[in-house]
Amino acid sequence: MKLLLNSWGRYPAEPQAAHPCAWRNDLDEQWRRVTIAHGSTLPFGNGRSYGDSCLAGSDHVVHVRPLNRFIEANWQTGEVCAEAGVTLGEVLQLAVPRGWFLQVTPGTRHVTLGGAVANDVHGKNHHCRGTFAHSVLRFGLHRSEQPAMVCSPTENPQWFAATIGGLGLTGIISWVSIRLRRIQSSRIETTRVRFGRLSEFFALSAELDSLHEYSVAWIDCLATGPASGRGVITFGAHCESGPLEVPTARAMHMPVRPPVSLVNPLMVSVFNRCYWHMQPTSRKTQTIAYSPFFYPLDGIERWNRIYGRKGFQQFQCVLPQAVAEDALAELLNVIARSGMGSFLAVLKRCGDIASPGLLSFPMPGTSLALDFPQNRALSTTLLPHLDAIVHEADGRLYPAKDAHMSASFFQRAYPAWEQLEAMRDPALMSRFWRRVTQ
Ligand SMILES: Cc1cc2nc3c(=O)[nH]c(=O)nc-3n(C[C@H](O)[C@H](O)[C@H](O)COP(=O)(O)OP(=O)(O)OC[C@H]3O[C@@H](n4cnc5c(N)ncnc54)[C@H](O)[C@@H]3O)c2cc1C
Repeated sequence: MKLLLNSWGRYPAEPQAAHPCAWRNDLDEQWRRVTIAHGSTLPFGNGRSYGDSCLAGSDHVVHVRPLNRFIEANWQTGEVCAEAGVTLGEVLQLAVPRGWFLQVTPGTRHVTLGGAVANDVHGKNHHCRGTFAHSVLRFGLHRSEQPAMVCSPTENPQWFAATIGGLGLTGIISWVSIRLRRIQSSRIETTRVRFGRLSEFFALSAELDSLHEYSVAWIDCLATGPASGRGVITFGAHCESGPLEVPTARAMHMPVRPPVSLVNPLMVSVFNRCYWHMQPTSRKTQTIAYSPFFYPLDGIERWNRIYGRKGFQQFQCVLPQAVAEDALAELLNVIARSGMGSFLAVLKRCGDIASPGLLSFPMPGTSLALDFPQNRALSTTLLPHLDAIVHEADGRLYPAKDAHMSASFFQRAYPAWEQLEAMRDPALMSRFWRRVTQ
């Protein structure tokens, strides 16, 4: 029986038939077979994209996760080359005990190298390190109609730029070489402080972002009136000495997918209120392992199941700095009035280090991400309202999280899309790309 794969949000519910590729030498043949049988396909990494950007137009994907071998590593320079299905967590398993860490990591370690390149992922240090692209030295790219090529800023640079943030449409990446960064300890010194309104968040961020490598905030998206815009900001930096340990604690596991979402507005409101009141009122510093700092959600495997059969959508936008505070206030106001709250409501500052990627998401400004259980009101009322605010502010939505953005909004927000379309491999098509371009 064929393995069926889903995106992380399980919305849209369009299971993908997996055509696994376990050997680099078999990649071209496997891809050709799937295309002949089904018209087109799409590379699939580990399915940590939320919406439909990792779903093939044909619903038949080439599953690249089984390409999971390391090719070489130089522990003097921190250069690691591995097959595209190796996850960031697997890189850390080898690298951390040797005093190396990823330069940029998203909020889950269960992302493959190929997926990290294709969405040009960003982390809590975008303001000082930019996106994942900046750690990529080169990669191998297979296209259906030409021999495999090596892409780097100096070799086939146009394919390098188009494939970074290229949503898996320019070809299939078979291996990736990245440069890691030195660390003296695997532990992170964190400082947490709660804020009462958005202006305080911006003031804290302006004061402390430049002093810390990592910065991220949680915001209570259901608070109204004088409490609106309250949250807690966390800064972090690698400790200058200490152990070099990979955490060994086993993650908990969400065993079943309930028929309906376990996340409801009352529960979110109570949780948010309690969580905010539990936070320190003055700056509190502590040292913690890297895992709970970077990957708190990885502590519960398959946590996406709590949203039940209909799944959920993540809304992630970035707003230009000049208008970020006003537009965020408006977004929060609309969300609070809708009563459709989110536990996870993350604010991050994005810096001005430009990515070489054609369609990279971050821009200088502030990003807001929220998870909402899927229901009719979300699709017909709340998301269109939020989109209109982001559109008006000249912001954009993150394709890796998206399952609803209109074609006109996408095309205005990502004017380079036509360049990507011109370089798209004709044998690759995603449900996302079809929705926003055709
Ligand atoms: C809990 C959680 C937290 C997250 N936090 C962040 C965050 O902080 N920042 C951020 O930027 N993202 C974040 N994400 C999103 C995630 O990092 C991206 O969606 C990532 O691209 C997923 O990688 P994947 O290996 O699962 O790829 P998939 O989701 O399977 O695929 C993603 C894209 O990559 C393409 N692709 C996959 N493999 C290849 C390949 N070998 N060759 C060419 N194309 C390929 C696919 O076609 C698809 O377009 C988060 C996701 C989760 C679940």
